[in-house]
Amino acid sequence: TSTPPSTATPSTPATTAQQQLSPIEKRIEDLLAKMTQEEKAGQLNFVVGDLFNTGPTVRTAESDRFNEAIKKGTITGIFNIHGAEYIGKLQKIAVEESRLGIPLIIGADVIHGFKTVFPIPLGEAASWDLEAIENGARVAAIESSATGINLTFAPMVDITRDSRWGRTAEGAGEDPYLGSLIAAARVVGFQGKDLSDPRTIAACVKHFVAYGAAEAGRDYNTTDMSEYLLRDVYLPPFKAAIDAGSASLMTSFNELNGVPATANTFVLQDILRKEWGYNGLVISDWQNITEMVNHGFAKDNAHSAALALKAGTDVDMMGEAYLNFIPGLVKNGQLDQKVVDDAVRRVLWLKFKLGLFDNPTLYSSTTREKQEIRSKENLAVAFDMAKKSIVLLKNQGNVLPLTQATKRIAVIGPLANNKADMNGTWSFFGEEQHPVSFLEGIRKYAKGATVTYAQGCELYSNSTALFDEAVAAARKADVVVMAIGESAVMNGEGASRADIGLPGVQLDLVKAIHKTGKPIVALVSSGRALELTWLDQNIPAILATWSLGSEAGNAAGSVLFGEYNPSGKLPLSFPRHVGQLPLYYNYKNTGRMYDGDHMEPGSERVYKSRYRDVPNTPLYPFGYGLSYTTFNYGTPKLNKSSISGNEPLVVTVDVTNTGKVVGEEVVQLYIRDLVGSTARPVKQLKKFQKLAFAPGEKKTITFTLTKEDLAFWRQDMTFGAEPGDFKVMVGPNSRDVQELSFTLSSL
Ligand code: BGC
Repeated sequence: TSTPPSTATPSTPATTAQQQLSPIEKRIEDLLAKMTQEEKAGQLNFVVGDLFNTGPTVRTAESDRFNEAIKKGTITGIFNIHGAEYIGKLQKIAVEESRLGIPLIIGADVIHGFKTVFPIPLGEAASWDLEAIENGARVAAIESSATGINLTFAPMVDITRDSRWGRTAEGAGEDPYLGSLIAAARVVGFQGKDLSDPRTIAACVKHFVAYGAAEAGRDYNTTDMSEYLLRDVYLPPFKAAIDAGSASLMTSFNELNGVPATANTFVLQDILRKEWGYNGLVISDWQNITEMVNHGFAKDNAHSAALALKAGTDVDMMGEAYLNFIPGLVKNGQLDQKVVDDAVRRVLWLKFKLGLFDNPTLYSSTTREKQEIRSKENLAVAFDMAKKSIVLLKNQGNVLPLTQATKRIAVIGPLANNKADMNGTWSFFGEEQHPVSFLEGIRKYAKGATVTYAQGCELYSNSTALFDEAVAAARKADVVVMAIGESAVMNGEGASRADIGLPGVQLDLVKAIHKTGKPIVALVSSGRALELTWLDQNIPAILATWSLGSEAGNAAGSVLFGEYNPSGKLPLSFPRHVGQLPLYYNYKNTGRMYDGDHMEPGSERVYKSRYRDVPNTPLYPFGYGLSYTTFNYGTPKLNKSSISGNEPLVVTVDVTNTGKVVGEEVVQLYIRDLVGSTARPVKQLKKFQKLAFAPGEKKTITFTLTKEDLAFWRQDMTFGAEPGDFKVMVGPNSRDVQELSFTLSSL
């Protein structure tokens, strides 16, 4: 047996003499030499299974659906199935009954945990805790691999500046720097050190590229953007995931500047393969190869297949265009054999790398399945992550944390006594009976208090029939905890919204409860930045609770009662009004600059870049989040006011916990390049540190910047810094910063 080398991808697909090949490359070439065109096309054909076909006894009729295809070698793998017994059986057929004995890739959307469900990725990103995020991906890999899965369609690293887009929930928000660090942490979590370790799974970074920039936030919509914006904002998290070793990559549904991403040679060849030297496997998204006919880019499915494969999309997910047309396209000279062979090499490489050739049932273990799935340890990791994901948006008069003096608590709202929605979007494997509901969590933590519950309204319906009961419950309480927001299906794929307020009559319910005069604490769950303006103006305490997963209620209980002091910070800007979107902190100035929020409707027209009715600023800025303690920032200091060449700029700032409880703070550093050959954003996050402080504790935080941190895509399309004047800003969020100046005198 041979052990795959430790790099994630082959250095170059083998084309040279056999004696120069590594043992794996030699085995790949031996197999290729034996394969028919049909078998080659089969290795590039990836199909979905029946998600629910699992359980201790495999339902035979359904599971047999794939047996013939596996034996004939017309599929390279199946995705979105699970169950060690079932998958073990399929792998055995592949290895023992297909002509060449090639094992299967078993893929799955393991997006935020597996059966132990973690917060949605946007929620995890709010933790700004890279170690916790890596641990979450590790747990997902351990659980899913036990059931036979060897590849996940994650991480999704698409930058989002428009929360109407439903898939905002699956990403890490609006910032390329934070997004890049999180992308890398997730890849490392999934893949560990060695992919052939049966407790790891291959990552598939997605969706390449600019999918999150869909026009008007409408899923799948066209994107058109400059190469500068693409490179400065949308590409960095992909590069970071690839540098972290992502074994595969998925192309996106959108067209980019007129060319569908899945056949876009500029991004797939020029950038991905040539500039970045990526040799991992490129997988299409669901039917996005054949969808090029709808785009008006390919005349039929055969044409689509040729365009996509030539551009560098190796595997066809669900389109069957490769399976049906590759042999004919090669035969009539429309496709080079080498293009097909290179794609097959990359598939086989991954299968070797996963260790499947040497031990096909490596990833299916009924014993491990029993031990690992939803183990106590895994749930503890999910609990930790869920607490860290919660963001305290408002806490007027220190309503929170609730104390044992609170004797009567009314828990109200459509998400209060709700388990299924806690799992959030893209939780195929999380079972709906498992999550701890907010109500259960509050009951557990409330100890001596009386907890009453009223639903108040449905998640989306327009009925106010349940309002009276809820108002009556509120009247009898000392404090009302309202669990409101979006259900799982209101975000994720195909779930864009034009209105990003609270759905249905939920805001009316809050208003009705507010009239009782009782203090309200709102737990607002969402997969995007919601419009919370009324809440912010009227409700004393607001917590962003995303979809927190298996441990939702425990995490909320722990935070509400102060066992855990919230430490999350927003990974995206919350707007005052949906009409402000796209909205992001790292915007650029116009020539007619915005100068504050004081324009009244009806006042004289002033030619500034702003709306007549809504300020430009967000309601809650990127990086924002409160704590039960307070942090005082001293005046930041620089080691020098001018640097040149490789000299570091050292920025220090004293941060003190001035409150009475332990707390964590995310200290953030932004820069601004005052003059650039392409105009620069007003702020860019460049560093951050998340640190715990005891009450009264003071820490000196040190950041080191070099010219690499000042680099951007310059007008001549080279990447680097430009000498000149800069600002460096330090603070608890992107708005409340203190700034200093420095100069980069030469490169
Ligand atoms: C999504 C992908 C996902 C795939 C497989 C597609 O519709 O866009 O993100 O991985 O389905 O389920």
